[in-house]
Amino acid sequence: MAVERLRISTLHFLQDTHRNLMQATNENPVLIDRYGRKVDYIRLSITDRCDFRCVYCMAEDMTFLPRDEVLSLEECARLVKTFISLGVGKVRITGGEPLVRKNALWLFEEIGQLAGLRELVVTTNGSQLEQQAAALKKAGVRRINISLDSLDQERFRKITRVGDLQKVLRGIAAAKQAGFESIKLNTVLMRGFNDDEALPLLNFAIEQGIDIAYIEEMPLGAVDHTRDSTYVSNEATLKLLQQHHPLVSSAETTGGPARYWRVPNTNTKVGFISPHSHNFCESCNRVRITCKGELYLCLGQEDKVDLMPLLRDHPDDDRPLIEAILASMQIKPKGHDFDLRRAEPAVVRFMSVTGG
Ligand code: SAM
Repeated sequence: MAVERLRISTLHFLQDTHRNLMQATNENPVLIDRYGRKVDYIRLSITDRCDFRCVYCMAEDMTFLPRDEVLSLEECARLVKTFISLGVGKVRITGGEPLVRKNALWLFEEIGQLAGLRELVVTTNGSQLEQQAAALKKAGVRRINISLDSLDQERFRKITRVGDLQKVLRGIAAAKQAGFESIKLNTVLMRGFNDDEALPLLNFAIEQGIDIAYIEEMPLGAVDHTRDSTYVSNEATLKLLQQHHPLVSSAETTGGPARYWRVPNTNTKVGFISPHSHNFCESCNRVRITCKGELYLCLGQEDKVDLMPLLRDHPDDDRPLIEAILASMQIKPKGHDFDLRRAEPAVVRFMSVTGG
């Protein structure tokens, strides 16, 4: 009883605070956490399924969720609309592999025309882009991230366990043809797997006139290797690339944690997302929603709120959903806590579950 009273009074306090804030600033509503960080970016995973099984991302034998435990596309659209009404401007659709979800395009089209949306972006492994790139662009997707960890057919197969490099390269070509504002390759370098490909992958990006970001491998979920055995620091990658290209540091940002460098006389910028060597949590502006409707406040922590019951129990009333989202700002953690020397992962969820 006392706990319930406390919960209700906390909620009222939060609602008052939020109302006051809106009145005080006379602006659109905003999500601000207890550290004063403004959350204006959501990453929504629309499926936990993927047609690849990347060794750093998933186990070989994955059990995927039954369909009725996954948000419907209509529920996804309702969630996005609600977040946008709370001041979120940037939406990334991810997964699993978002483009293997049946009718995913419908969702992109729904979101693409929402008033208040600043930017709709997608992260994909590229396997479906040959068929879908043009339609995604038409739906309003402005930028696209395509994961690519190797340019060698056999090695690509070894890392993804099942992927076909040629299909992804055709997907990249289709994305270029579709004319997105920017295309960025996402590369996870792993010692003993592909750490000798940092330079060939950058040269490929330059040749294609697109960007590339190197992401340090994160200890999310239990995989077949220990994470510290494969860790490659972005600092080492930067040093290596600088021996071949006169990279120029840039203050550019795409609203995420990457730090960028320009390759002079090319159209390519090189990003480094360095959760280990450069902690970026102080400027974290995002939350993630899994395909089950779990709102995770941090990629590397367990704090979450289940939104699915609020969607399903209140099909015609967004208020409980809005209250829960507002209240979640009070449990957004200060930051992740990755320690590669620990034998266990920082969190048991694979990146494919939380949504990369
Ligand atoms: N299937 C899509 C794809 O391949 O891009 C979207 C989902 S995937 C989980 C999103 C991104 O997360 C990919 O760029 C992938 O390389 C990255 N990723 C997955 N597991 C990771 C890990 N443990 N550490 C760092 N990046 C990871």
